[in-house]
Amino acid sequence: MDFSLSPALLELQQRTRRFIAEQVIPLERDPRQTPHGPSEALRRELVGRARAAGLLTPHASRELGGLGLTHVEKAVVFEEAGYSTLGPTALNIHAPDEGNIHLLEQVATDAQKERWLRPMVQGHTRSCFAMTEPAPGAGADPSMLATTAVRDGDDYVINGRKWFITGAEGAAFAIVMARMEDGSASMFLTDMDRPGIRIERLMDAMDSCFTGGHAVMGFENLRVPAADVLGELGKGFKYAQVRLAPARLTHCMRWLGQARRAHDEALAYARERQAFGKPLGEHEGVSFMLADNDMDLHTARLHIWHTAWLLDQGQKGNFESSRAKVVCSEAEWRVVDRCVQILGGQGVTGERIVARIFSDMRAFRIYDGPSEVHRYSMGRKIVAGRA
Ligand SMILES: Cc1cc2nc3c(=O)[nH]c(=O)nc-3n(C[C@H](O)[C@H](O)[C@H](O)COP(=O)(O)OP(=O)(O)OC[C@H]3O[C@@H](n4cnc5c(N)ncnc54)[C@H](O)[C@@H]3O)c2cc1C
Repeated sequence: MDFSLSPALLELQQRTRRFIAEQVIPLERDPRQTPHGPSEALRRELVGRARAAGLLTPHASRELGGLGLTHVEKAVVFEEAGYSTLGPTALNIHAPDEGNIHLLEQVATDAQKERWLRPMVQGHTRSCFAMTEPAPGAGADPSMLATTAVRDGDDYVINGRKWFITGAEGAAFAIVMARMEDGSASMFLTDMDRPGIRIERLMDAMDSCFTGGHAVMGFENLRVPAADVLGELGKGFKYAQVRLAPARLTHCMRWLGQARRAHDEALAYARERQAFGKPLGEHEGVSFMLADNDMDLHTARLHIWHTAWLLDQGQKGNFESSRAKVVCSEAEWRVVDRCVQILGGQGVTGERIVARIFSDMRAFRIYDGPSEVHRYSMGRKIVAGRA
């Protein structure tokens, strides 16, 4: 592995860093930021700024208008974008669109790409990914999928309920996972304004960084034409992996940027704030926390870069992306938790961005596979000699 950055990637890193500092961070306290994420108006303004800076949807292929970044290049750019709570929204690299863009590029037909993918890459539309269901349906164990798709003439008829569906409110289309009559799973593309789709309510969540928040949705006799099946019938679980392995790695990248931001805030405070006759940072208890932060940030970055490099070599990287997801989500969380501690009372208030990052980041240890499920899956592979 070569860890050096090419001159072009260094320039892109610096350009993204400047863009985030000058055009995005000043909007972090914009009143169009709501408990269910940046409003659509704020999102559009941010996306417009990224478009003007030539940084919009950089992970999409050049043919579609992106920068065609490799996984390693994404690691560098997404960390920079993650430095602001609004950065991933601005660059159009937030979940779930980022993973959906990757999946559609891999498996959608040309007609599906023109209809759904291109407008999303251009930042004009948003999407959602509907897999998780209330009990007894799919959660940590996707094989419990309960939503059904039944063939009827040229259509599939979908029935079921989903929840935690990020960005569903205001999305132009959804990718829906459903179980077929033979027990396999498939993915279906559907416009959100079709009869048979109902957003029941938005869930109150600890995070407020995703436009549209998280919805509970019902599908009642939703008719999807056979032409709108995504990829091949029966390959839903396989495509979920195609989407998730890189998607969980990009979460690691964005949240690394957030953790670095929290660390920088805490470090500045520790240098200036005095207690017991000297700056906080000169107390061993605080400097050890900063040293632990440095180690966690570095460990997370190494796991991200290594796994990204494997994906760039054409490897599936499922085991490594599970490992990176656990290492990063836990290391980055420890960093932010320490930063709250170093900032004292301000760390838990809106006086500092760190409290926002703390609330936004907690769910990262749960979505795209809870830490325990990744350990469970890795443990089985290790014992079976398949790691
Ligand atoms: C903020 C947020 C956004 C989300 N966005 C989406 C989205 O856009 N689309 C979507 O489809 N889903 C989304 N999800 C759902 C997410 O993927 C699920 O919450 C996750 O898969 C866990 O499922 P569950 O909540 O049903 O937990 P459960 O399945 O009920 O599991 C609960 C807990 O049990 C433990 N557990 C489970 N299995 C094991 C095991 N084998 N060994 C040890 N412990 C275990 C884990 O600690 C786990 O956290 C989102 C969730 C959150 C919180």
